[in-house]
Amino acid sequence: MSHSEISPSNAHRWMRCPGSVKLLRKVPPETESSEDASLGTRKHALMAQFAMLLQSSLSLGLHRSDVVAADFLKPHPLATDEMRDGNFGNQLVEYAEHLMCNQKYGGGPVRTEIELPLDLSSVAPGMRGTADAVIYSHDDTTIEIVDYKSGSYPVTPHANEQLMLYLIGALQMTSEGLCKYEGGHIMTIAQPSVENGPMSFRSVTVSTDTLREFLFSAQRESSAARILKHPIRQPSNTACQWCRAKAICPEYHEWVSADVLIDACDKTGDVKMCDQLAREILDNRKRITDLIKSCQEYAIGKLNGGDNFPGYRIVEKQGRRSVIKSDAVKEDLKVLFGLESLQPVGVGTLDRLARENDVCIDFAIERGAPKMTLEPIGDFSEDFKTEEGD
Ligand code: SF4
Repeated sequence: MSHSEISPSNAHRWMRCPGSVKLLRKVPPETESSEDASLGTRKHALMAQFAMLLQSSLSLGLHRSDVVAADFLKPHPLATDEMRDGNFGNQLVEYAEHLMCNQKYGGGPVRTEIELPLDLSSVAPGMRGTADAVIYSHDDTTIEIVDYKSGSYPVTPHANEQLMLYLIGALQMTSEGLCKYEGGHIMTIAQPSVENGPMSFRSVTVSTDTLREFLFSAQRESSAARILKHPIRQPSNTACQWCRAKAICPEYHEWVSADVLIDACDKTGDVKMCDQLAREILDNRKRITDLIKSCQEYAIGKLNGGDNFPGYRIVEKQGRRSVIKSDAVKEDLKVLFGLESLQPVGVGTLDRLARENDVCIDFAIERGAPKMTLEPIGDFSEDFKTEEGD
């Protein structure tokens, strides 16, 4: 069993559905990370590096204002123009200041560990994790775990399995450990409130007793996932949301189709489709579309791995077009179309304006890298339109 099969970041799944761990071994590995994931990784690294820079500057006696986010981002190879021009610099400062804030926990200086490696072998053999930040109060009575999320999908710290595991790992590193520590500990999610908005810090307090109970159930579920011949598979919105085994999971198929698609396919009665059934299908649309996406990923994984997948092939499709986000382009477009403002503007709007005014807008458009996508062999293109087109 590889270490990452049972890790803090996928604890929301294996703690609810221990059987997913073994089933996922039958799914072809992911061949490429999505653009969103790669942007998230860059933002994550920049947050950590800027916080470390501020930390070392303060320890050298410099003032907070001596560390300028724009100067940090300008030459940085991980930064994009959008990050440099937008509000990301302010988000860096807000995050770093939260980590170094001396106003909380009795007002004394905090000790902050950034990107702290944690040993979680008390939960499962070989389990490791890395906490984005661990803040220790000056009197060592309070520990705060901070996890940065770059995406806009709101994540709650409440009963967050990943944070609870990090907290357990951080507490086990202290001399008091998990046995004697009495305090209420803090779990914080740091996340932009909207993509380009200010950072929000959502925190909850968790007691040592709650953590101890959680540790027992994490140990139980991780043991079930590793040791049982047929560990239970239990579908739920939280467990299944990011699970890549949906395409081959009988329990998920039953969960998606029970009482819904089965009824719709039943041809023995007179008229099966009715408003109630249509509503049930609509209520299940996320699970149904997730199943289709998972089947696509499964087929792509097999084809990329050199296996056959009947009826489908991989083709290269042109990258998605998008409007170049720079002040110069915005100004040129305003002049070209005589508008006061062009925010927000998308490719569709620009195409329409260009047609109406009979002008060329190529200077304002960039195209993403070509993508390998799944396509049916034969004349089914109308039935298989993907979201990749313009
Ligand atoms: S799809 Fe859902 S039920 Fe099936 S293995 Fe994954 S998490 Fe478990």
